[in-house]
Amino acid sequence: MDYKKLANLLFPNVKYTRDYWEEKYPTRDLPEGAAVSRMAPSPTGFVHLGNFVQVLTSERIAHQSGGVLYLRIEDTDAKREVKGAVQTVINSLKHYSINFDEGATIDGDNGEYGPYRQRQRVDIYHTFAKELVEKGLAYPCFCTEEELAEIHNMQEKEKANFGYFGKWAVWRDRSMQEIEEQINNGKPWVLRFRSTGSIENKIKFTDLIKGNLELTENDIDHVLLKSDGVPTYHFAHAVDDHFMRTTHIVRGDEWLSTLPFHIQLFKSLDFKIPKYLHIGPLMVMDGDSKRKLSKRKDPQAALTFYEEAGYPKESIYDYLMTILNSNFEDWRRANKTADAHEFKFTYKKMNPAGSLFDEAKLNDVSKNVISLFSAEKVVEDLLEWAEKFDKEFFELLNKDKEYAVKIFAIGRGGKKPRKDFAVWSETKDYCSYFYDELFKITDNYPEKISSQDIKNILSEYLEVYDENDDNSEWFNKVKSLSEKLGYTTDMKAYKQNPDEFKGSVAEVSTVIRVAVTGRQNTPDLCTIMQLLGKERVVNRIKQAIK
Ligand code: GLU
Repeated sequence: MDYKKLANLLFPNVKYTRDYWEEKYPTRDLPEGAAVSRMAPSPTGFVHLGNFVQVLTSERIAHQSGGVLYLRIEDTDAKREVKGAVQTVINSLKHYSINFDEGATIDGDNGEYGPYRQRQRVDIYHTFAKELVEKGLAYPCFCTEEELAEIHNMQEKEKANFGYFGKWAVWRDRSMQEIEEQINNGKPWVLRFRSTGSIENKIKFTDLIKGNLELTENDIDHVLLKSDGVPTYHFAHAVDDHFMRTTHIVRGDEWLSTLPFHIQLFKSLDFKIPKYLHIGPLMVMDGDSKRKLSKRKDPQAALTFYEEAGYPKESIYDYLMTILNSNFEDWRRANKTADAHEFKFTYKKMNPAGSLFDEAKLNDVSKNVISLFSAEKVVEDLLEWAEKFDKEFFELLNKDKEYAVKIFAIGRGGKKPRKDFAVWSETKDYCSYFYDELFKITDNYPEKISSQDIKNILSEYLEVYDENDDNSEWFNKVKSLSEKLGYTTDMKAYKQNPDEFKGSVAEVSTVIRVAVTGRQNTPDLCTIMQLLGKERVVNRIKQAIK
């Protein structure tokens, strides 16, 4: 077979040569050891938490080594494309401080190695498709969908392996004349790889996360170009990652099964094989067993879930570092308020089987992260969230930012800061009693106290209440009031024989607490009352007496 002739027949319009592209996209001028990595999403507009873990890994590997992180849009499957998807990806990653050094931008490109959208790179792919045909490593296949389905049926009947290979690869060894005939009749064709591998053979490969692997060689003549001339993922992956000079490919381990084919392709194309990091999926517990975090079943699979719920980006970052690198938690304990980017991330500590996603743990991490924020930062971040997701709350907070800062300063700072909430969406309820617009009585008064006594406690308290009282004056007043009305202040005696008493000072303060805040449990009541101010406190108590 005259492969050169075949190549010209299939690709009459290829203008550029290998040398042209090698020169256009030279090896990057980076310091020794600097890694080039990328995110390569299909433009579906959906970012799975697992994709985020991958890009986080890429980002750390690139930026910790002084290298480059870029964004490439894998839009070869037009059917899956969703309008505005690139914008969604870029914005949702930017929210988490993942900034690309180069690559696709919302409406164009930024960088010397573009275009960064695959459908704009067809010229490059065709140069190498043609080259493979010239070398006898690729050939056209004219099978229709029906013919392929028939091959599949026959394989099923014969209990053979599925796929286009060996005797099933019906266009692999056709003559030039047969091929020309089809082309002249305008028959559509795909370009297939001519595999020389055998499933009898194993190849050895070292993945940076999975370790040493022994993989079965690929014997399938996979499709390289679809009938519209657009490449499949496999072919585009080899060409793009070579010419964008990627050194580290971080991707999901669902690609491990086609890795032998990818290695074959890099070799056939005379491209240096990059380093691979195949990341296991995020798992969740479902009853007693583990399963993959699923886009269909778990709202937590979508990166947007976390922004909507109002997890600070710092919490997501800390949590993911916690599950990716087992030494992160110790580092965090020793560096409580340090920027998490100062932590030295390493793929060597990643679990080859994938990490377990646990929302309860995420919430603990987030409570901890928020507890170390200043009140000013809490309000700033909360306002940013509320402006997008809870307009009513935003207006309330924004009316008096200073007041909001004081609310969130309660219990902050010091050795044991309060850990009341994990997400911004919990804060409205948390601070509702500070705003008349949100205030309502949600808890009951202590059961032990009669309604007449509730009224007595509250009216007596109104008599002595002074908004200028400090903590100890405030408590002394509650104590003497308790004694006056027959409630003990001897908590020890009370605990031993509760039935001998009408009640204690604890119940008396709970009565005041419920009247003023609507709750049985809150942070320090005296501080809350100082913040609320005389008018609100008096009104609420009067309202409760009515
Ligand atoms: N477009 C591929 C995907 O979304 C990218 C895999 C890769 O990073 O190479 O799965």
